[in-house]
Amino acid sequence: MSPSLQPVLDRIAAEVRSLPGRGRPADYIPALASADPGRFGMAVAELDGTVYGVGDWRVPFSTQSITKVFTLALALSLEGDPLWEHVGREPSGNPFNSLVQLEYENGIPRNPFINAGALVVTDRLQTLTGDAAGTLRSFLRAESGNPGLDVDERVADSESAHGDRNAALAHFMASYGNIANPVPTLLRQYFRQCSIEASCADLAVATGFLARHGIRSDGSTLLTRSQAKQVNAVMLTCGTYDAAGDFAYRVGLPGKSGVGGGIIAVVPGRCTVCVWSPGLDQRGNSVAGVAALDRFTTLTGLSVF
Ligand code: GLU
Repeated sequence: MSPSLQPVLDRIAAEVRSLPGRGRPADYIPALASADPGRFGMAVAELDGTVYGVGDWRVPFSTQSITKVFTLALALSLEGDPLWEHVGREPSGNPFNSLVQLEYENGIPRNPFINAGALVVTDRLQTLTGDAAGTLRSFLRAESGNPGLDVDERVADSESAHGDRNAALAHFMASYGNIANPVPTLLRQYFRQCSIEASCADLAVATGFLARHGIRSDGSTLLTRSQAKQVNAVMLTCGTYDAAGDFAYRVGLPGKSGVGGGIIAVVPGRCTVCVWSPGLDQRGNSVAGVAALDRFTTLTGLSVF
């Protein structure tokens, strides 16, 4: 049995607590603006089922773009390689909600983790299942073992009321024929997806299939080993907005962040990590979250490099 990771988490929490300047919560979605940047939680789930946690690790928060990993995995499992005809897998070098690149590239988004790409993936999942956000919620409930995991309707409404840019992205891609569902249907699904609330414990456990090379918690196969590698690779190169290079340099793990302040990370074959603290840096990543993951891989040597 490997040594307990609890002392490592305790040490990280103590170090992060004294971090100067914690960044600011996202405010372009008004319902997220009131989050307390002083909150901090971190959980690690090992493949044998052991879960360690520290701080606010059981407090639910708005998962936001972290959900893009799960919708990608679900769409890939149902559709396979043809999914990549609708969305690329290169870093974008542009902000997560940019419209500019889409026009040059004929409505095919650079990758599934910028908003345009995530909208395309949700559109595919909607076509394949008839209920993209519901499919995602069921999956997360099953994988996390938390049957109460749900959409925060207040956040979903707030996103919907301030969703002009996402609506613009969706309509623009529809004009290129890269969106199959009516745009209002797609947006409703996408906002509900982003508004799912979960804790660090829920998300660390639910991400386990990516550390198990595609195998779900009940032993069934969601992704082939090769597809799990693909999802992890896209997380590494595109998962933390315009800072994926710096994240890879500091943390050395596939990771995905969200504007709610959460970040998930995968140590393939070993464990999954989720950290949450709502204060964001200029690029949109949690300040304390990135620092904590940096310390985690430095202290444990658990990196893919
Ligand atoms: N719901 C957010 C949006 O579409 C997600 C952004 C994020 O977490 O990156 O703007």
